[in-house]
Amino acid sequence: MRTKGVASKADNPRRLPAVDEVLRDGAAAAPIDDFGRAAFTAAVRQALAEARESKGVADVAAIVARAAERLQRASAPSLKPVFNLTGTVLHTNLGRARLAEAAIDAAAQAMREAVALEFDVGGGRRGERDDHLRALLCELTGAEDATIVNNNAAAVLLVLNTLARGKRAVVSRGELIEIGGAFRMPDIMARAGARLVEIGTTNRTHAKDYIAALEQEAGLVLKVHTSNYRIEGFAKDVPARELAAIAHEKKTPLVNDLGSGVLVDLTRYGLKREPTVAEAVAEGADLVTFSGDKLLGGPQAGFIVGRKDLIARINKNPMKRALRVDKIRIAALEATLKLYRDPDRLAQTLPTLVSLARPRDEIAAQARRLAPRLQELVGGNFLVEVADCASEVGSGASPVETIASAGLAVRSRGGQRAVIALNKALRALPRPVIGRVAEGALVLDLRCLTDEDAFLANLEHLKKTTGAT
Ligand SMILES: *Cc1c(COP(=O)(O)O)cnc(C)c1O
Repeated sequence: MRTKGVASKADNPRRLPAVDEVLRDGAAAAPIDDFGRAAFTAAVRQALAEARESKGVADVAAIVARAAERLQRASAPSLKPVFNLTGTVLHTNLGRARLAEAAIDAAAQAMREAVALEFDVGGGRRGERDDHLRALLCELTGAEDATIVNNNAAAVLLVLNTLARGKRAVVSRGELIEIGGAFRMPDIMARAGARLVEIGTTNRTHAKDYIAALEQEAGLVLKVHTSNYRIEGFAKDVPARELAAIAHEKKTPLVNDLGSGVLVDLTRYGLKREPTVAEAVAEGADLVTFSGDKLLGGPQAGFIVGRKDLIARINKNPMKRALRVDKIRIAALEATLKLYRDPDRLAQTLPTLVSLARPRDEIAAQARRLAPRLQELVGGNFLVEVADCASEVGSGASPVETIASAGLAVRSRGGQRAVIALNKALRALPRPVIGRVAEGALVLDLRCLTDEDAFLANLEHLKKTTGAT
């Protein structure tokens, strides 16, 4: 009787090569040079193990090729650039704002060099990292002082913890929001150590509700921009100015969490009005919190602007240290904020506004240019048409309003399954194209398509999947 091992060797006399044999082969020199000997050796071992497992035949050349391919795949970045054709300009899952060139340059410079991050160059003394942005933020918002943290969720957490730890924090039931990605106001309150005092009802909160709640001492009154939803119909809230007067009567700070950080009047770019940070400050909020990477168009960051004495308390909170931002983002934020000194050119310099302000007709013309080539590439089983689209700002800004846009709608004679397969093929391109499937069609909203040539070149890879020419 033969043992199993002997049997397979007899059936397959072309045993697999040894690791050394593969490494010595001439073809191995290039991948060793590219990826390093250690990584290539590990990949060869894996390729050999796979060949052994599948009882396949593999010579030295095949093992070299498989190991090199494995390393090639692994070296591609996981954080891939994509074409955002979802119609949502500030898509949280696609990284929100794309940065201005000035911000990219500033960030790259800060990454490459030592920078005077916490160093007062003039005096030769220690400085503060917030100093680089404080004056700019005060200039753009009219606030007395400012501080910067990791994101707006951190800003809200830090404010609540500083002003309301172990104290009552008064907020309307209509504003107890959840923002995507597990930011829920009641949970943040609890983690900050504040005691949530809910007042009013879901649809209506009155001045008298705040007045009654403030009969007992409170750490703060919180007003929250209901970023991602709107209550229509029989609804009422208390305007910030009136609320500030009520809070100040009881010597209680009013904090306004604006969410999106709008620094300019958006109507001048044809967009819907959003309250600006300067307005929130002027209306009497003692502190205003907002994001860096929503409508402001910068990197992820959270800003807290307002009263000097309160900002000083926030900066003394040990949590501030845990939530601070690094030099790269400070550099990008400074360059982004400086663009706001010239609002006339923002619709050219700030990618977020470039995309949001793009006229529908221009987008439709682009769709008409691209439709014939996409039609050729997907073949006769699909029908590509220029379509009206409704873009959204995203990230919780202007949740109800849409922006008239245009794009491509692809339908299939093969029905929904073929459309879903095409959607998948587009996501599998070297630079994934992210659209959405709606009413049986794959819709590509072209509002955010800036590089048409790169898009077309990328589409050519569809040939391999669809077999079209
Ligand atoms: C988006 C948002 C947040 C969270 O901001 P991030 O910058 O995403 O952390 C908090 N509050 C409101 C009202 C928001 O809209």
